Amino acid sequence: MIDLLLHNVKSLHCDSLLDVGIENGKIVYLSHSKSEVPNSKQIIEGNGNVLLPGLVESHIHLDKAFLLDKMNEDATNLNEAIKLTAQLKQGFTKEDIRERSLKVLKRCVDYGVTHMRCHVEVDPIIQMKSMEVHLELKEQLKDLIDIQIVVFPQEGIFKQKGTADLMRESLIMGADVVGGIPYNDRDPIEHLNFVYQLANEFGKPLDFHVDFSDDPNQLAILDIIKLTHLYQMEGRVAVGHLTSLGSVEHEKARQIASKMAKEDIHVFSLPATDLYLNGRGDTERVRRGLTPVKLLLEEGVNVLYGTNNIRNPFTPFGTGNPLDIALLLAHSAQMGTFDDAKILLEMTTYGAARALGLTSYGIEIGKDADLVLFDSKDIRNVLLDRPKRLCVWKKGKEIGTDSIRSLIKVN
Ligand SMILES: [Zn+2]
Repeated sequence: MIDLLLHNVKSLHCDSLLDVGIENGKIVYLSHSKSEVPNSKQIIEGNGNVLLPGLVESHIHLDKAFLLDKMNEDATNLNEAIKLTAQLKQGFTKEDIRERSLKVLKRCVDYGVTHMRCHVEVDPIIQMKSMEVHLELKEQLKDLIDIQIVVFPQEGIFKQKGTADLMRESLIMGADVVGGIPYNDRDPIEHLNFVYQLANEFGKPLDFHVDFSDDPNQLAILDIIKLTHLYQMEGRVAVGHLTSLGSVEHEKARQIASKMAKEDIHVFSLPATDLYLNGRGDTERVRRGLTPVKLLLEEGVNVLYGTNNIRNPFTPFGTGNPLDIALLLAHSAQMGTFDDAKILLEMTTYGAARALGLTSYGIEIGKDADLVLFDSKDIRNVLLDRPKRLCVWKKGKEIGTDSIRSLIKVN
């Protein structure tokens, strides 16, 4: 007998209403809605509201979220943001990182996020403090949210002696993804070669912060394309920002996008940060400073978006709701049609799941029952209204608003 049946729900991919049956945390029944329903212990009437698979936050920094009350000044460009955050980082403790991370996680779970990839800083300043906190949280919260941990050398690898060893130690301790940031090291090529070798050695995917500027000549992406091919990492490499590409001459940008599509390199647009920090050197014809989302999509690149930062020198805004970022990207990348709304919702669900390599994701028989039921009968309005969640399920279990608090207490 089915444990729970969601009756009359609307999905992203089907025009008629569906019934979704859940048993032992998995989706076991899927059918167009009928008045006759299979034997079920519990039936929830969906009333035609939209059911999505759990939202995926594909790029976020928990360890430097909520820093506004510690800042005496604001950053006005990327270098200032990096410098200011590095200063604040000297005061971070494990308790403080945990508290600020939980504040974000609680919001995300409430917003229907069931999977998240976060970039965790390791360097001689913060050492392993943040990594240890994230590994603990990943385990403690696993019934609420799946967390992927990227080892992130924010301060560079070679200009900060000791970082390479900390990265290796993190991977041995259980980090999931190798991170990289070629624009903040003494030599971008040396940086890239190291992280590809490290990823290869540990059999992990790669996730970069790359080409974060308006300079059309800053194109580490070209080396990333070559190395991805060389190391046969097709589909296992993702890049965030990639805003320089937005300043590249159109035909050249198209050729680069096409090469990225061939290597199946995923792109995370991070509009909250990119719009805030880029374009500041322009006194007229001010650039938006985004990666060219539509061009990349046209060439077949898997484009997603992420929150990146919440209320810190890089981005003094943010709520933790991926749909807020979706709406921001809808405005700034000029994606306003009905089809665009569907694409934007697809990005933070199925598209992001593919980039993160999630294998048991989606509204399909046999997949995990990670689901969000929105208080909206219209797909487009899920983007426009960012409506209330009527219910969120993680592996078939209903997630309440106080779930994090009770789980932490229990542990
Ligand atoms: Zn980031």
